[in-house]
Amino acid sequence: MSTAARTAPAQDTTEIEEAGHVDVLIVGAGVSGIGAARHLQDQFPGRTFVILDAQDNRGGTWWTHRYPGVRSDSDLFTYGYRFKPWRGPSIAAGDEILAYLDEVLDENDLRQHIRYQHRVMAASWSTEDRRWSVDVTRADTGQQVRFTTGFLWMCQGYFNHEKPYEPRWEGMDRFAGLIVHPQRWPEDLDVSGKRIVVIGSGATAATLIPAIAGKAEHVTMLQRSPSYWFAPPTTHELAVTLRSLDIPEEWTYEILRRQYIQLTDWLARTAQEAPGDLHTFLIESMRPLLPEGVDIEKHFTPRYRPWQQRIAIVPDGDLFAVLREGKASIVTDTIESFTEHGIKVSSGEEIPADIVVSATGFTMSVLGDVAFTVDGEPVDLTERVTWRGIMISGVPNMAYIFGYFRHSWTLRVDLVSDLVCRLLAHMQDRGATMVVPTLRPQDQDMELRPWCDPENFNPGYVMRSQHILFKQGDREPWTHLLEHEQEREILPKADLEDGTLVYR
Ligand SMILES: Cc1cc2nc3c(=O)[nH]c(=O)nc-3n(C[C@H](O)[C@H](O)[C@H](O)COP(=O)(O)OP(=O)(O)OC[C@H]3O[C@@H](n4cnc5c(N)ncnc54)[C@H](O)[C@@H]3O)c2cc1C
Repeated sequence: MSTAARTAPAQDTTEIEEAGHVDVLIVGAGVSGIGAARHLQDQFPGRTFVILDAQDNRGGTWWTHRYPGVRSDSDLFTYGYRFKPWRGPSIAAGDEILAYLDEVLDENDLRQHIRYQHRVMAASWSTEDRRWSVDVTRADTGQQVRFTTGFLWMCQGYFNHEKPYEPRWEGMDRFAGLIVHPQRWPEDLDVSGKRIVVIGSGATAATLIPAIAGKAEHVTMLQRSPSYWFAPPTTHELAVTLRSLDIPEEWTYEILRRQYIQLTDWLARTAQEAPGDLHTFLIESMRPLLPEGVDIEKHFTPRYRPWQQRIAIVPDGDLFAVLREGKASIVTDTIESFTEHGIKVSSGEEIPADIVVSATGFTMSVLGDVAFTVDGEPVDLTERVTWRGIMISGVPNMAYIFGYFRHSWTLRVDLVSDLVCRLLAHMQDRGATMVVPTLRPQDQDMELRPWCDPENFNPGYVMRSQHILFKQGDREPWTHLLEHEQEREILPKADLEDGTLVYR
């Protein structure tokens, strides 16, 4: 769906049920929404709030993705929230992450605030009333419901949970086997003895393939081009040492967080300053783990700079192990067509398949595909500019959370939540009921740039969606900085009175 002035679905207002007013309305009960709610409750207590989610359960990404082997691809010491130590292994399975989120919900009594199967369709700001009207469709009853709120906090993630990216290839209709997308993995899918082709070479392929390779007859990873892989040990030595000492869990957590943050800072910096060195390091550390005689240039040497796309983590090199054992193999080629019994690639080879897993990625969803209006005017997001990757120019009383690509997403959830709570407190101190990011006279002519600089980061789902995204400017605070190393200094000190936020 394009964000260009989305129109609110026509509704018969007589059928809309009024659901009441809250101080803050959070959209999304994933890692961001749960973190935002916990910070709000802790830092700005006494506010009423509700969390709406279109799905029937919590967890967002981790509820949607339940394919075999689903796990994090960054360490949990930084993927965990600042306020709650992670006690498990560095890389965690999807259900372990859900269990951690459950603990956060229970320990903070947050479940009572969540309304599932509530999809936000439209949000309309009225300056006169100083409030948003938020129109929701309930998936369980089909009812139209309207909440009102003084502040809208969008924690909707970045991809469409219902519609994954599923390219079409010639001949798909004649394929006699099953085609599945990891976002919609059938719970009862039995892969035993099956020949499986996984299309894709990202984190999903890397986690799924080792999980099914033992059971399936054979798994072929079919990639158009190679990705960068990194194979850290599952057991983190420093974690083992610290946990053997009689020290509070919070200390262990903080030390491990700092170590991982430092490591990721180094990786991100090296990717910019010495990409050739990082490239060599990644290829050479993989080389001894690969099957003997494999064509490394063809199958394992990416055509982009390290970190222009995420580096896929393969703990203990489990993906490489199944390749060495012959349970899985790699084909690097383009798909010509599906046949009745498999996939034909450009070289002429036909790869036999009973099941094709299309690990082809996401369809990006911008701010939950919500149709925004401000005082009756539809908001065309493509004409708007981000304020620090947290608010949108001309859109009052609304913040959003978008995490990091390179560091763990959650590090930004904590930082953005701090800033939003500080902003709410600042508004209260000032006696303001409205805050609008507004270009100052000196910002009016600034150069507008794409939301994400392709030189910096260019995965397929972002590149496919730049045209529906809002923009960034050429100066702070009209930028969306991608590095935690910068933001952890800048955001806590961000000046809320620099003239870019207009209060009323
Ligand atoms: C398999 C996989 C592994 C990943 N591993 C990592 C990792 O290791 N480290 C890392 O940093 N990141 C990782 N990511 C990225 C991951 O998406 C983020 O870390 C994080 O989970 C995003 O959380 P979120 O709450 O912002 O969004 P989501 O998890 O997408 O949750 C958003 C929620 O909002 C709801 N929603 C959206 N629009 C609406 C609407 N209009 N109305 C109502 N509800 C709505 C959705 O239903 C969803 O439940 C991974 C992603 C995937 C797919």
